[in-house]
Amino acid sequence: MHELHMQRLDAIANMTVGLAHELKQPLSAINAYHSVVRRLLEEHGVSLEKVDRALDAAREQAFRVSEIVDSLRQFVSRGEAVKSRESLNEVVRSACEFTDAMAVENGVNTVVRLDAKPDHVLINRVQIQQVVVNLKRNAIEAMRDCERREMIVSTRLADGWMIPTDVADTGHGLRGSVKEKLFEPFMTTKPHGLGVGLSISRSIIEAHHGKLWARDNPGGGTVFSFVLPLAEL
Ligand code: ADP
Repeated sequence: MHELHMQRLDAIANMTVGLAHELKQPLSAINAYHSVVRRLLEEHGVSLEKVDRALDAAREQAFRVSEIVDSLRQFVSRGEAVKSRESLNEVVRSACEFTDAMAVENGVNTVVRLDAKPDHVLINRVQIQQVVVNLKRNAIEAMRDCERREMIVSTRLADGWMIPTDVADTGHGLRGSVKEKLFEPFMTTKPHGLGVGLSISRSIIEAHHGKLWARDNPGGGTVFSFVLPLAEL
C-alpha cells in the first residue's frame, strides 16, 4: 500500500480510539440529565422549569455528539479538520459549560478568567473544545480525593501574538514517572482510563501550530497549558 495511504489509515485508527473516548463524556452527561428528569418527574409538585433546563442541557450534549462525529467525517473525507476564525474566549467558555455539571457534582470550585484580548484564532472549534474538556475532566478527576478542589481556567495575550490557555488544579499532582510519559498514548494511572486524552489533545494543538505542556502548580496540583497563535487580522 502507498505509504501516505498507510499513514492516513493509521491516523484514522488513532482517531477512532479518540472518538470512543470523546463520545463517552457527552453520552454520560445525557444519561445523567435523563436521570435528573426522571427524578424531577417523580417529585411532588414537579418543577417544569427545572425539567426544561435539564432537557435543554441534554439536547446540547446530543448536538455535541453529532458535532464530534461530523468532525471525524470531515477528517476522513478531506484528511484534515476544517478551521475557521473564532473567538478563543468564547470557545473556552462554551467548553467550560460542558463540564460545569461534572465540576459541581465533584464539589469543585471553578474560576474562569478569560482575559485574552484580542482573542481571534484560526481553529477547528470542536477539536479545541475537546482539548479544554479533556484538561478540565482530568483536573476534576485529579482532585477527587483532595480536600481543596479549586480549578482556574484562564486565557491571556502574551508577547502580542500568542494566547496561552491554562487549566490549573489543586489535585494530587504529577509523580516523576508519570510526568515523563504523560503524553504517550495509552498511558493511564486510572482504573478505567483509556490514556489517550492527553496524546490526542497534544496532536490537536500541534496541528494548530501550538504547544501543550504541563507543570507543577506552585501551591500544589498541576497546571496544563496550551498556546495558540493569534490569527492575522
Ligand atoms: P486518562 O485520563 O484516560 O488516564 P489522559 O491521557 O487524559 O488519559 O491522562 C493520562 C494520565 O495523566 C492520567 O491517567 C493521570 O495519571 C495523568 N494526569 C492527567 N491530567 C492530570 C492532572 N490534572 N493532574 C494529575 N495527573 C494528571
